[in-house]
Amino acid sequence: MTTVEDRSSSSEGTSVLVVEDELIFALDLKQTLSGLGYQIVGMASSERDAVNLALARRPGLVLMDINLGRGGDGIAAAAEINRCFDVPIVFLTAYADGEILRRAGHVAPYGYLVKPVQQRELNAVVQMALARFNASAARLQSERRLRLALDSAKLGLMTLPTGSDLVEIDGYFPPVANDPLRGMRMPLNDFLNHLSLEAQNKVRALLDQGGDLHLLARWHEGDETHASWLEVHASYVESESAVVGICRDVTRQVLQQDELRQAAVVFESAADAILILDSEGRVSTANAAFTRLTGWQRDEIRGRHPNDFLHARRGSDRELLDRTPVNAQGHAEVVCNRRDGTTFPGWEHVAPVLDEHGCVTQRVLTFTDISALRMAESKVRHLAFHDALTGLGNRYQLRESLCELRDGETACLMFLDLDGFKVINDSLGHDAGDRLLKVVAHRLVGMLRQGDVGIRLGGDEFVLLLRHVDLDQVVGVAERVLDVVRSPIDMAPGGSMQVSASLGIAMFPRDGTDADSLLRSADIAMYAAKGTGRNRFAHYQPAMAETANERLAIEQGLLQAISNGELSLHWQPQVCLRTGAVVGAEALLRWNSARAGHVPPDRFIPIAEESGLIHSLGRWVLHQALSTWARWWRDGSVDGRLAVNVSALQLQDEAFPEHLAQELQATGLPASLVEIEVTETALQRVPEVEAKLTRLRALGVCIALDDFGTGYSSLSMLKTLPLKRLKVDRAFVRDVVSSASDQAIVRAVVAMANAMSMELIAEGVEREEQREWLVNSGVLEAQGWLFGKAMPAQEFLQWLDRA
Ligand code: C2E
Ligand code: CA
Ligand code: CA
Repeated sequence: MTTVEDRSSSSEGTSVLVVEDELIFALDLKQTLSGLGYQIVGMASSERDAVNLALARRPGLVLMDINLGRGGDGIAAAAEINRCFDVPIVFLTAYADGEILRRAGHVAPYGYLVKPVQQRELNAVVQMALARFNASAARLQSERRLRLALDSAKLGLMTLPTGSDLVEIDGYFPPVANDPLRGMRMPLNDFLNHLSLEAQNKVRALLDQGGDLHLLARWHEGDETHASWLEVHASYVESESAVVGICRDVTRQVLQQDELRQAAVVFESAADAILILDSEGRVSTANAAFTRLTGWQRDEIRGRHPNDFLHARRGSDRELLDRTPVNAQGHAEVVCNRRDGTTFPGWEHVAPVLDEHGCVTQRVLTFTDISALRMAESKVRHLAFHDALTGLGNRYQLRESLCELRDGETACLMFLDLDGFKVINDSLGHDAGDRLLKVVAHRLVGMLRQGDVGIRLGGDEFVLLLRHVDLDQVVGVAERVLDVVRSPIDMAPGGSMQVSASLGIAMFPRDGTDADSLLRSADIAMYAAKGTGRNRFAHYQPAMAETANERLAIEQGLLQAISNGELSLHWQPQVCLRTGAVVGAEALLRWNSARAGHVPPDRFIPIAEESGLIHSLGRWVLHQALSTWARWWRDGSVDGRLAVNVSALQLQDEAFPEHLAQELQATGLPASLVEIEVTETALQRVPEVEAKLTRLRALGVCIALDDFGTGYSSLSMLKTLPLKRLKVDRAFVRDVVSSASDQAIVRAVVAMANAMSMELIAEGVEREEQREWLVNSGVLEAQGWLFGKAMPAQEFLQWLDRA
């Protein structure tokens, strides 16, 4: 590039293009200029030649005639040349009228000479033109440099002239355009409206009072999300009567700073512990959560490797940092050390920090304490495998434990079911039932050895898995189990109570090699034990499976017995032992099952009680017995009382008295003719039995205590109950003629009944000598095969006719 100095020093020898259509004058000019030391690089006589030569030779000055005759117009040629490059043009013409001067002025010539021209004058004008041109070239150059500087720094230049309401903007001004602006103008008020009030005021003050301004201003576009930030340095320039300022778009920096500030807050306030590791993997800083979680202060760990203090010394805990590639993310569960030496499970995450070239400069290690999670998990696991009420294992645990049994091992599975628990639960309430289950569970656990497993399967069913036991040890354990269950249980506030259990025993691998079959065998053995009477245990035998199936069949069959019309009542007469007169009859339930034939009540009644079916059976019996007896009574077939058996479960049903009252009313049978038979053992199971019996008595019916002598009723209890009659159990009648102890018992019962003004009836009188002994001992009534078996209705009516 030619410098200003170069040009000024070569003003002599400057190349000149002469444009002149008059040949003589042109030659004269050439000579004159050459004589003055200028170098003539071309002579043109037309507008077109002038432009072409100027472009080709690039002269340092053009001396231009205006009127080129037929060659065209010198002003037009000058304009075209100036459009192409910067060169000083001096007009040399014979004309100087107003119109030509005006046109010539438009191309801003560096001089205007009117022919004829003196050599000295010519030289002076050309010299001045060159001097002016050089000066403005220097200014242009510095302007270009300034613009270059502004552009490369992406700066914008603002000019706010005082007294004008326009702002001129040059260069970069991203809020308005991405490309550099050249002299863009914008009304001052529009400009100011983009700024905050505070910034507006500062700019106005600068315009009014002068001075300098350094400002970080927010430029908003109405829409908040598109705001940008400008850094402005402006001063009032006296000579220009304007505020001139430079501004730079610093939006990115401001946002980055914002982000940095946010990141700093996140870092410090995060709940997760954060360590920043340098390129060597050593701690450069840590956040507050780290100190809180681990107890280490920042200063104590700065420069140390996390594997040296944080991670427990197991290989796998150190692997996350060692094995994760530095430029990758990774996570793992690790055991972390606290400063005090305790440890906690942590969930750790490592991630690289990359610079703009994608190189890893740091790593960020974050972790959380997941002890609570682990604890919750183990709690859930515990819940999943344990019974919430008793804390024993549940059926899932049992399944797992059974699956652990190995070939060659002998183990014993005891299936334990509490006798009559349903009655206790329904009558004493679920709280009492729960308490009882807990006590039993606790006692069972107390018996277990290391390795044994106690399970509550549900309801009142427990399972004990005894490992490594022999068959001969098992009996001893079973007896002890029955003993511990049977010992009295404190049931505050109502004193204590007793339960018994039935226990089925299955041996591994003899009675089952997998979880299901072993459990089934033990279950079957338990039912067999229950069937032989309560408080027993039984070893599994293959034949039992049949019985168990039968039991299931009974339960299934009973479900439909009523609707299928398979039930009926049989009637057994009750007679006066002295006169032989019929005093009444007991209604006894019969089930003729479509599938199993005649099923005796001793078999299906306990099953009905356990399954709850007894309620519908009982209602059926009550209705059938009362309506039949009422019909017979009305037609004169009978005049004595009707005895109906009622189960303990029915008795404790709150709705039972009302139900009975309805049946009495519906059938029209006088209540005084109805006797409810309640077994002695049932009495012991029914809570508030006195109140319940009193309610029944209030209806006018009588109450007889069935199977008397088999239970353990205390005298004091009997005295308080509204009992009309005791039924001496068949067990005492059977051998009463020969057995001295049975005789003693019956005599005592007679004395007691007399003392308490209760009546007596003996059951199961089969032989004449029994009748004789009983009547001689003061028993006035009896029922039994000697007089009549339980008979179907028709047969019973015929029997009555004969009696
Ligand atoms: P339970 O109430 O003690 O009934 C007397 C049982 O003794 C009846 O047996 C009867 O047939 C039988 N029996 C009567 N006289 C003699 C005799 O001289 N010798 C012998 N060996 N047995 C005699 P059953 O009908 O098989 O009833 C058995 C038990 O079933 C009853 O004992 C009773 O507890 C229950 N039961 C029967 N029907 C019902 C009922 O409708 N509801 C309820 N809850 N239980 C019933
Ligand atoms: Ca009875
Ligand atoms: Ca009886």
